[in-house]
Amino acid sequence: MEVFTVGTSSAVPSKERDLPANLINYKGERILFDCGEGTQKRLMMDKLGMMNISKIFISHWHADHFSGLLGLIQTLEMEGREEPLYIYGPPRTEEFTDRILDTGYFNRSYDIFVEDIIEGEEIVGEGYRIRPFEVEHGINAFGYVFEEEEQVKANKEKMENYGLGSSPKVGRLKKGEAVEHNGETVQPGDVVEKMAGRKVVYSGDTSKCKNTVKHAKDADLLIHEATCLHEMIDDRRGHTSAKQAAEIAKMADVEKLALTHISRRYRGNKAEELLEEASEIFPNSELGEDGKKFEIKPHRPE
Ligand SMILES: [Zn+2]
Ligand SMILES: [Zn+2]
Repeated sequence: MEVFTVGTSSAVPSKERDLPANLINYKGERILFDCGEGTQKRLMMDKLGMMNISKIFISHWHADHFSGLLGLIQTLEMEGREEPLYIYGPPRTEEFTDRILDTGYFNRSYDIFVEDIIEGEEIVGEGYRIRPFEVEHGINAFGYVFEEEEQVKANKEKMENYGLGSSPKVGRLKKGEAVEHNGETVQPGDVVEKMAGRKVVYSGDTSKCKNTVKHAKDADLLIHEATCLHEMIDDRRGHTSAKQAAEIAKMADVEKLALTHISRRYRGNKAEELLEEASEIFPNSELGEDGKKFEIKPHRPE
């Protein structure tokens, strides 16, 4: 499973950073979180599998987070896409998407399904679930949790000890059923190992928010906005400083923090100041860069 911080600027792009977008590659399926201007170009340049995007989740309807939708949708049609595309977001997502799709003349070779969602709902995919959670940005705005299902694996050595090898009973054990084999009862716990699924959380745009701590708990990766240094935060209402993003990461006890939504004020080496500020509080912090890859390894058996 790979996660990419595709675009890492805040409201205005810079030479180094384009507008917000993040991509999860889960077993070949691509899921996009936000689609700022420049997203399709970055996806193409980095060969991130744009045609395989199945779902797009919009965090909120500020232009820096959706301004790449129209171009992306048109390119998918030019490339002959046939599979449907699903777009989800906070209340009014259907209304805003309809307006975008009504702009200009273009054909569509595929269906687009759009749905307003609310906290408490979840979108279930193959092997994972995605949940929105409310954040504090002055308008309807979400962060998102991507959570993989619990992984159930048969331990090869233990299977052989029971003489189960490639018996069809293995499937039943993995489903949690006990089986009779060679005159003895084999319990699932004797041969099957369980691993918590992987978890990736994206904050969207928000001020420091308790709900993010709750939903990011124990995540493998938290991609959190860090618009500015803490000295500037009073001028950036509805946003988070690098220091505050690190405090959230620490409280939520996440494995790694990636900083994103970086103001163009922090060009070049100046962005390192954000990383320094965050690392003082949460050492396992990294600066998001456009197209940067974060590999999320499977968990070990409990
Ligand atoms: Zn923004
Ligand atoms: Zn915003």
